[in-house]
Amino acid sequence: MSAYAAEANKGVVLVLNAGSSSIKFAVYDAASDAKRLTHGEIEGIGTQPRFHARDSEGAEVAGPRTVKANASVHDLMHALLDWVEHHLDGRKILAAGHRVVLGGLEHTAPALIDAAVLDRLRALIPLMPIHQPRNLEPIEALAKLYPHLPQIACFDTSFHRTMPEVAQLYGLPRKLTEEGARRYGFHGLSYEYIARVLPKFDKRAARGRTVVAHLGNGASMCAMVGGRSVATTMGFGPLSGLLMGTRPGELDPGILLWLMQAKGMDESAIESMLYHDCGLKGVSGVSGDMRDLLASDDPHAKQAIDLFVYRICWELGALAAAAEGLDAFVFTAGIGENAAPIRAAVCRQSAWLGIDLDPEANDRGAERISSASSSVSVWVIPTDEERVIAEHTLALVQARSEGEVS
Ligand code: ADP
Repeated sequence: MSAYAAEANKGVVLVLNAGSSSIKFAVYDAASDAKRLTHGEIEGIGTQPRFHARDSEGAEVAGPRTVKANASVHDLMHALLDWVEHHLDGRKILAAGHRVVLGGLEHTAPALIDAAVLDRLRALIPLMPIHQPRNLEPIEALAKLYPHLPQIACFDTSFHRTMPEVAQLYGLPRKLTEEGARRYGFHGLSYEYIARVLPKFDKRAARGRTVVAHLGNGASMCAMVGGRSVATTMGFGPLSGLLMGTRPGELDPGILLWLMQAKGMDESAIESMLYHDCGLKGVSGVSGDMRDLLASDDPHAKQAIDLFVYRICWELGALAAAAEGLDAFVFTAGIGENAAPIRAAVCRQSAWLGIDLDPEANDRGAERISSASSSVSVWVIPTDEERVIAEHTLALVQARSEGEVS
């Protein structure tokens, strides 16, 4: 047995995904099948944190239990790693993998974090002032608590660095582009997962032109050619492109000027509105949650759904233009995986592209939901961003271990 295999039999890797007030975690066996052993979440960070965890079968193994009010991320990370090691009978945490929203232009792949990488990621904070600091906090906490624990950052933007330069540019003065005002694109870990598994579903799509619609609370679409991103709907930050749960998507910048000049709104009021009060929630006045809208009789809820579908179809046409054709279309994330009426409406309104829906397959939640004669194949593929992070982290652990024995 190699040193790596012996180590892998005992160890696990930890995956962390830090959001606005929560940190999701998952623990994967370092052995070759990379089984997810446990996963859970710390919610209510900054106020009253609550912790819960489930096992590989989805059964509750801890919580929901409250943690000390106002506990710092440092304290929460300490408690989490203690819990993981205790819960897994002292199995060693070999490395931690983190989701980091912005890797800038230079990070085209995951990065092993050291002081220099951390400095470069901190330098990107002005471009992503809300999300980037939250992603870096657990990394900084673990670096203090466990200085010898290897940590790896996996970026939402890396997958899109294959986009042609013109797909990354805005029509701004060159100096601003050079200072970072570019289309970075997001949800890259989700698209990477779909690109990895697509050959199992459709070899032609994997080699050809595929548009993936990641439709969750945050939503975006990506055109891939041969499994590489060539265009995407999100841009500089996670506000643009599709209509989302509470974010507007495509917006004329003139509206922002009007809000400031005529409505007297300041930067923080506009920021709060754009992140929390727009999208499905703003248009419907009912909810930003698609399940609520599908269950509602309110005409504004129906209009919000219509706009959501309209914007997807609009962007699908644009992305097919960027990819110079369309062989396959993939739905993923909460709405894409579960909302059959939304998939049906998008497919019906995109029939001109050669999409022919199989309504029965769509209603029963089949993997392939296009008819046998559809010239574009349409798929529903559950995404798994955490697994992508786990696999990158495991690859790193393995490379280090092989480096040590060679
Ligand atoms: P996040 O971006 O927070 O990860 P998810 O991928 O979990 O979001 O997607 C959340 C969205 O998925 C919500 O709008 C929710 O209503 C929707 N959703 C989840 N299950 C269903 C369902 N069965 N039918 C319709 N919409 C659903």
